[in-house]
Amino acid sequence: DSVFSHVVQAPEDPILGVTVAYNKDPNPIKLNLGVGAYRTEEGKPLVLNVVRRAEQMLVNDQSRVKEYLPIIGLSDFNKSSAKLIFGADSTAIQENRVTTVQCLSGTGSLRVGAEFLARHYHEHTIYIPQPTWGNHPKIFNLAGLSVKPYRYYNPQTRGLDFQGLLEDLGAAPSGAIVLLHACAHNPTGVDPTLDQWEQIRQLMRSKGLLPFFDSAYQGFASGSLDADAQSVRMFIADGGECLAAQSYAKNMGLYGERVGALSIVCKTADVASRVESQLKMVIRPMYSNPPIHGTPGDWSHIIKQIGMFTFTGLNTEQVAFMTREYHIYMTSDGRISMAGLNSRKVPHLADAIHAAVT
Ligand code: PMP
Repeated sequence: DSVFSHVVQAPEDPILGVTVAYNKDPNPIKLNLGVGAYRTEEGKPLVLNVVRRAEQMLVNDQSRVKEYLPIIGLSDFNKSSAKLIFGADSTAIQENRVTTVQCLSGTGSLRVGAEFLARHYHEHTIYIPQPTWGNHPKIFNLAGLSVKPYRYYNPQTRGLDFQGLLEDLGAAPSGAIVLLHACAHNPTGVDPTLDQWEQIRQLMRSKGLLPFFDSAYQGFASGSLDADAQSVRMFIADGGECLAAQSYAKNMGLYGERVGALSIVCKTADVASRVESQLKMVIRPMYSNPPIHGTPGDWSHIIKQIGMFTFTGLNTEQVAFMTREYHIYMTSDGRISMAGLNSRKVPHLADAIHAAVT
């Protein structure tokens, strides 16, 4: 008998489970409107040209090595991320009051921020909008914060319940953390106006509430990266402190590569540097350091391996994906018989592998 025989079946994730169900459906008319991932007219994953170019540069760069990144990631990436959200001319950045650490996309950035707050911030209650992205309460609970809702959406108007929001934040204990969607609120698609943001800011600052911005859609709301960061920049301009988690999953189409950053804006450079040292203490035992880059680009083993087969390194799911979407058949351990391939079919196989690993 297994020592794990008492383990019960966990439910599928409410969002990612939709894709699992979709993938199981053999009917060709099927349409997946669950996961937030961009698709082409043909319903295929979209890779931005700029990302393709960057991948090409990485593959061609012979000086590229596979060393560990620092715990907090690539310093150029962190600087650019901070500029992207806070503005290239941000005084907080110029005054070195911002610490930015590369994390595993938006989820990982939120989790690291939450773990830091649970360890080093005096108030452990975080207010999240009602409704919000389904992963938020789980991330914050697991980090040891206690999660409370604030009113956000009014089903009658299908708009913002601004009065309810102000009342709930107004009633929050001073110092409480407040999760704010920087723009393009998920799942409602309802954002405060700039005027309303200003009122939210004044209320929060007057009560000493700590803003924790989740920015997963910068550029997606208005088409302008700057306009979509206005909410965050209002809170930076007043000189106060805040956290911001950035995801590049959506706006760069890098879903599977897990590219993101957490910034903590502090009152002084000295505090920011001590905060950064503690972020490292959070990250090191969690996953050590972030990926040097997320692009799975080295396929030289295909040439190096001998014999009739190549052991591609594709996993069961990737193989299943290639069979399903590209009608390419191989054993589920990712082994392909090179003898089955011909030069006419190479482009088709390459497309399929690319789609499977990106
Ligand atoms: N926050 C919000 C509001 C989101 O919608 C998402 C993605 N659905 C994320 C964070 C994080 O996603 P990821 O970890 O893939 O960057």
